Amino acid sequence: MKRLKRIAIVCALIICVSALVACGGGGLDEISKELTNYNIEASYDDTEHKLTASMTVDYINGYDIELDRVEFHLYPAAYREGARFAPIEKSDEAKAYPSGKNYGGITVSKVTVGGNEREVTVSGSDEDILCVTLDDKLLPGGRVKIGVDFEVKLAGVRHRLGYNGKSVNLGNFYPIACVYENGAFRNDPYYSTGDPFYSETANYNVTFKYPSKYKMAHTGSGTFAADGDVATATVTALAVRDFAAVLGEFESRETTVGGTAVKYYYYADSQPDASLKAAADALTTFNDKFGKYPYSTYTVVQTAFLQGGMEYPNLSLISDAMNNSTYIDAIIHETAHQWWYGVVGNDETKNAWLDEGLTEYSTSLFYALNPDYGVEFDKRISDALSSLMLYTELYKPGYNADTSMDRSLAEYADNMEYTYMTYVKGQLMFDNLRRIIGDDSFYAALKDYYTSNYLKTAQPDSLIACFEKSSGRELKPYFDSWTQGNVKLF
Ligand SMILES: [Zn+2]
Repeated sequence: MKRLKRIAIVCALIICVSALVACGGGGLDEISKELTNYNIEASYDDTEHKLTASMTVDYINGYDIELDRVEFHLYPAAYREGARFAPIEKSDEAKAYPSGKNYGGITVSKVTVGGNEREVTVSGSDEDILCVTLDDKLLPGGRVKIGVDFEVKLAGVRHRLGYNGKSVNLGNFYPIACVYENGAFRNDPYYSTGDPFYSETANYNVTFKYPSKYKMAHTGSGTFAADGDVATATVTALAVRDFAAVLGEFESRETTVGGTAVKYYYYADSQPDASLKAAADALTTFNDKFGKYPYSTYTVVQTAFLQGGMEYPNLSLISDAMNNSTYIDAIIHETAHQWWYGVVGNDETKNAWLDEGLTEYSTSLFYALNPDYGVEFDKRISDALSSLMLYTELYKPGYNADTSMDRSLAEYADNMEYTYMTYVKGQLMFDNLRRIIGDDSFYAALKDYYTSNYLKTAQPDSLIACFEKSSGRELKPYFDSWTQGNVKLF
């Protein structure tokens, strides 16, 4: 995600602080054979703001243990009235719900295992986990067909899942399998801080019906047909870690970068060519510096959104509330997420710095490599440092701020602390490292990190090992001092 600047007092004091913060090839066919398949048939009722869906998951046990059940996140549950973990911080509610607070939710009406109906069991810390008990233990590599019928009520909200007048955001709308690790399924709730998602790559076949007045921006590649007032999208996405879509009355632009169709959907942009160019230039730059983007499509879509933007596989949501420079900045940031979140996954709940720190620094590197954008790299970094100093000085007198980064989303006091630690301090950590080991070692490590974690989930130690290998230096203590909050920042 790209966060909008959140500290009015800091903004007032530093007029020139840039938009530091605001808020993820070949072989896909082969790799996809080993992955779980989600087949979703859904239709969206624009009058009731309701989505009705039937999903069949051809689930593959990709773990080295036997499973007696499969658990799924029910993220839309966070939007319901009375949710323990609301998706939006109290201080952001007025902005997120311009027409007043309202609610959504999800109802699972039917669950089948191997075609046989089972009781619907919803649990978790916030009634947000669907637990599907299997008839027989599923061996490593084994497959089972799980059916889930569900209905999602959308809230009127400028967030990942919601309707907003001009567009309908469909992020995290379906039950998605929890990651299994350390003897249990990870069933973290929908924290309002950060991007509280963590999932494995999978394949998606989605048939989606919606009012034909809309166009649909989405993960994957699709074909479209219209029959009167109803349009039908048929979408396929291979080896992606989520599926999302946005409906809207869009205009569109398209270009191609290295075999990838780059699309831009918008409804209020006075410089759509510049926006499309930013997405294409970012794709070109990151293809060159990190490794080739493997997918055939990448779509940027303008929509109503609380923060600057939000990343999904093959799809970036960019807020319609930004001006030209922050808008372009968000496009570049979210495009960088296609590498750091999309192709190289990470645990966004536990290791957010790996996600946002590297992505925000990649955004800065883009400007260094594309001087025609007129954003001075050194100034961007010095602004980040000034901003962090002010944050600790103004909000944590005596510099007693908890500046650790290796903590879960649940352990941050609020979105502001999270933003400063993961985006701002995170990017300073990477910049300092690049100055220590040099450009050649730095970029070689990122290419190695990309290749060795391609379509998998990376751990921090994997990234550190790549930097150690490329530089020939022991860097674990360096990373530890930054991530554990011991480094002297100023
Ligand atoms: Zn981000």
